[in-house]
Amino acid sequence: MSHSIVRATCPSCGDVVLTTDDLGLDLHDTPRFLFACPRCHDHVSHEVPAGIVHVLQAAGVHQVEAVPSVISDEALADFLADFDRGDCVDQLRRLA
Ligand SMILES: [Zn+2]
Repeated sequence: MSHSIVRATCPSCGDVVLTTDDLGLDLHDTPRFLFACPRCHDHVSHEVPAGIVHVLQAAGVHQVEAVPSVISDEALADFLADFDRGDCVDQLRRLA
């Protein structure tokens, strides 16, 4: 498969040039394409109008799994910490 050159915009670096192989297409919820900026290596995502999703697919952009951005590692750690505390209280109750 040939890789087409695409231009994308990084919020930090401005226009960057990528190939379709560098892009990922996330079709969960709002369609968006994802890429790692070749200059600053930030992960960038842009919403894709539904009408051009098939254009990207036809150009060879592969589909990726949804990035689990809804809950951050920190939030998850907090949640687990709370969970542990709740468990401790339960055990204390049982002992008492
Ligand atoms: Zn960048």
